[in-house]
Amino acid sequence: MAIDWLAQAHAMRAELVARRRDFHQHPELAFEEVRTAGIVAAELGALGLEVQTGVGKTGVVGILEGAQDGMTVLVRCDMDALPVPEANDTEYISQTAGKMHACGHDGHTAIGLGVAKMLAAHRDQLVGRVKFVFQPAEEIAAGAYAMINDGVLEAPVPQVALGLHLWNSLPVGTVSVTEGAAMASANDFTISVRGRGGHGALPDETRDPLLAAAQIITALQSIVSRNVSGMDTAVLSVCNIRGGDANNVIPSEVTLGGTFRTYQPAINDLVTRRLREIAEGVAAALGCTAEVRADLLAPPLINDTLVNARLREVFGRAAPEISLIDNARTMASEDMACFLERIPGTFFFVGSANSARGLDFPHHHPRFDFDEDSLPISAGLLAAAVAEYVLPSA
Ligand SMILES: [Zn+2]
Ligand SMILES: [Zn+2]
Repeated sequence: MAIDWLAQAHAMRAELVARRRDFHQHPELAFEEVRTAGIVAAELGALGLEVQTGVGKTGVVGILEGAQDGMTVLVRCDMDALPVPEANDTEYISQTAGKMHACGHDGHTAIGLGVAKMLAAHRDQLVGRVKFVFQPAEEIAAGAYAMINDGVLEAPVPQVALGLHLWNSLPVGTVSVTEGAAMASANDFTISVRGRGGHGALPDETRDPLLAAAQIITALQSIVSRNVSGMDTAVLSVCNIRGGDANNVIPSEVTLGGTFRTYQPAINDLVTRRLREIAEGVAAALGCTAEVRADLLAPPLINDTLVNARLREVFGRAAPEISLIDNARTMASEDMACFLERIPGTFFFVGSANSARGLDFPHHHPRFDFDEDSLPISAGLLAAAVAEYVLPSA
């Protein structure tokens, strides 16, 4: 008889909620997830998984080995919190000043442990293995690369990668398996504009980098409106400008910083090229120089069509009461993309908002919180998805 993963997950609701609240009360920033990783490693060990710690600094890997050989499925959960002071008034509010789980990674860690527990109970029927990857430092887009550099995608090599994000842009009771690019790339850039400073009353004797920087900011907005096709997507934002001290002194150097996001590698290359051309060209025209540094922090997150199709079929069967959509997208980014760039897979969004209860603040907001009904829903869906690949009898 088929295993009802959703019913099993709902039966674990109290445990999932208690774990999530415990992680919520003890948020840890990128690469500082020592307490969280300790709990994860202990729990995975208690379930009989083979546990590796210190993978990508504070990452934890647990391998659930099946009774028979077969494929390897990677399940990825992130563990880090944000430097955001919590403004909620709940019994499980953050106990650490200035830090909170404002993105839902507390929930992801609890969900991952719940899925490990559910699948470990069926180890005898398991064909293949599940590699549970508890990743640090998602919020600074560094944890996935750190774990990959430490060999998380080797020995055994996964054939499919699955992950999820609790999603406050969607109401609880929905799930999105998005076709193609679901999340954007993240690129960080800094432009140092250098000229020749001098007296504010004698600008003719200077090469004003502030004027050049102002023109560069304006000209950069032509990239999205005049270089990227209307059929494609990109955003570019200059988010800070630094330079100058006195009101009567033209500085020698001004620095601009910002971010840009795209859905396709080719558009990412185009924006990177135009960023350099515009900054250097405009600065030169105004007698200054511009030095551009642009770093790709995470590639676009692109879901695999075949895995998507299989997940939609599984979700429709395992959870007919959950409404399945296929078009939730965001210009935010996720370093799960680094895994999906190398291994086919799907990162799905599980609706977690409940407007009637005021649980609909956006991710990274000091009042972010989610409807905890999304915890068993997520665990049930993820377990069903993994079982599709390694539990043929289920
Ligand atoms: Zn986040
Ligand atoms: Zn997140």
